[in-house]
Amino acid sequence: MSFTVHGQAVSRGIAIGRAVIVASSRVDVAHYFVTADQTTAEIERLRQARNAVMEEIVRVQQGLGELGSNDAHPELSALLDVHLMLLQDEQLISGVKHWIVDRHYNAEWALTTQLEVIARQFDEMEDPYLRERKADLEQVVERMLRFMRGVASPIMAPVRTEARRDAAHDSVVDVPLVLIAHDLSPADMLQFKQSVFAGFVTDVGGKTSHTAIVARSMDIPAVVGARSASHLVEQDDWVIIDGDAGVVLVDPSPVLLAEYGFKQRQGEVERERLSRLKNTPAVTLDGQRIELQANIEQPDDAVAALKAGAVGVGLFRTEFLFMGRNGKLPDEEEQYQAYRRAVEGMQGLPVTIRTVDVGADKPLDRTPVRAGEDHLNPALGLRAIRWSLADPAMFLAQLRAILRAAAHGSVNLLIPMLAHASEIRQTLVLVDRAREQLNTRGQVYGPVRLGAMIEIPAAALTIPLFLRHFDFLSIGTNDLIQYTLAIDRADEAVAHLYDPVHPAVLQLLASTIAQCRAQGKGVSVCGEMAGDVTMTRLLLGLGLRTFSMHPSQILAVKQQILRSDTARLQVWAQSVLVAEDPAALMAD
Ligand code: PEP
Ligand code: MG
Repeated sequence: MSFTVHGQAVSRGIAIGRAVIVASSRVDVAHYFVTADQTTAEIERLRQARNAVMEEIVRVQQGLGELGSNDAHPELSALLDVHLMLLQDEQLISGVKHWIVDRHYNAEWALTTQLEVIARQFDEMEDPYLRERKADLEQVVERMLRFMRGVASPIMAPVRTEARRDAAHDSVVDVPLVLIAHDLSPADMLQFKQSVFAGFVTDVGGKTSHTAIVARSMDIPAVVGARSASHLVEQDDWVIIDGDAGVVLVDPSPVLLAEYGFKQRQGEVERERLSRLKNTPAVTLDGQRIELQANIEQPDDAVAALKAGAVGVGLFRTEFLFMGRNGKLPDEEEQYQAYRRAVEGMQGLPVTIRTVDVGADKPLDRTPVRAGEDHLNPALGLRAIRWSLADPAMFLAQLRAILRAAAHGSVNLLIPMLAHASEIRQTLVLVDRAREQLNTRGQVYGPVRLGAMIEIPAAALTIPLFLRHFDFLSIGTNDLIQYTLAIDRADEAVAHLYDPVHPAVLQLLASTIAQCRAQGKGVSVCGEMAGDVTMTRLLLGLGLRTFSMHPSQILAVKQQILRSDTARLQVWAQSVLVAEDPAALMAD
């Protein structure tokens, strides 16, 4: 049955493929393809896991028998029987084989996919007793997964695309896959960065949620905030993801498939055309040179940044190094190596390293592992610099690592979420202390330019304070909009109120840019607004000359710049600033 789900448009273009529904709790299961001659080994791994779990259950049953407690615990004994039965269930076994043999999924992926198929059938059962068997099935699958985790696959993840290509003589295997999940944390998304998926859909999330930001950095079509997509879409359904319109079309008609196939090809032609701008300097019609920098999440993203023609990294979100590690944070040496890789990767171009910004919609891990991670209002809680100042030893280790990386190239040190003079003072004291510690150790480090993010209205309203202490400012519009309008950027229920051109936001942006320029200090925008082509002219008109965005957006923004005349835009931007409904003027 065809239907359409609406969500938030996250990233460019169209993806057409079959749905892979992944339960949020199982996104950490490896997803990769195996070659045709590896399928037998994958089935054998599953067989071993199933046998091991069955033996375990039989042992427990025997134990109960010896204690004479089979009679004392008739429910437990019956439950174990149910588990044994589920493990031998024909639908489970044949379904898993199907995903491995016909689709070339690795064993864990095949198992969790089939689990999702059967779990849905349980959900639809009328009989509450049978409905509850879903939990039993989940338990036995979990035990098999645990067993398989202990026995590493002989085929490891990096083969993904090669295996796919290898198997591509089979047309079924050649179909692109799109991932549909209720929720994916930013760390989960990162895990999927090198994955087999051609597109993403999540039920929750706003346009500038960090999950959406990582999806954008992957440069594949994605829609977030699609509410109940993960329930409505079935495993293996055909879906079209329109990442520009924020629409997911499920089981589309042949006419729609043809229409979107055409759009997809048009998008590719447009991208090809844009790629010719890579080496063209970003200069406006009236000769203003604009700096287009890249936002990165991992050191290796420097490759994409250079490829897109970025003139530096304007925002390295270092928190991604800290996530998904069960609270065990990277030490100074590990961080130093990562920052150094990014700096060297940029081949002499400046790299702006932002100190860690965990908290809010960027938890360290799926479940809170550190004190203070489970606040009621995480976006207003211990986040970013607040978190760093609460743990000076951790912060000092990061500062030392960044200062050491600065010996290998041009580094800017950027501090997120500052609002108070006392936070600025403490930060500066700790930067000095980090230098002293390195001096005492006799360790080499380099000079850094110090920058502050302006992303809290209180900061935007006290710019002179920041200009006294910092060499440059970077406006984080994602948070500045969130905090100015009291709109949770990760909550799809209020996404319609997330308005980058609200007069209050524009006032704060305009005055921050103007004050920096008046003092000859550098100012950039590194929020998602900088990479939104519908905002480029306005930002130019407000006087912005440095933009930082995902590498995938650089060429489209450059195209806008090449067509712009800043003198004319300045006059127009002033009228937008004082308009009651600025959005109405944006199309002018
Ligand atoms: C921002 O808030 O605009 C920003 C760039 O930081 P982040 O998105 O990582 O919060
Ligand atoms: Mg921010």
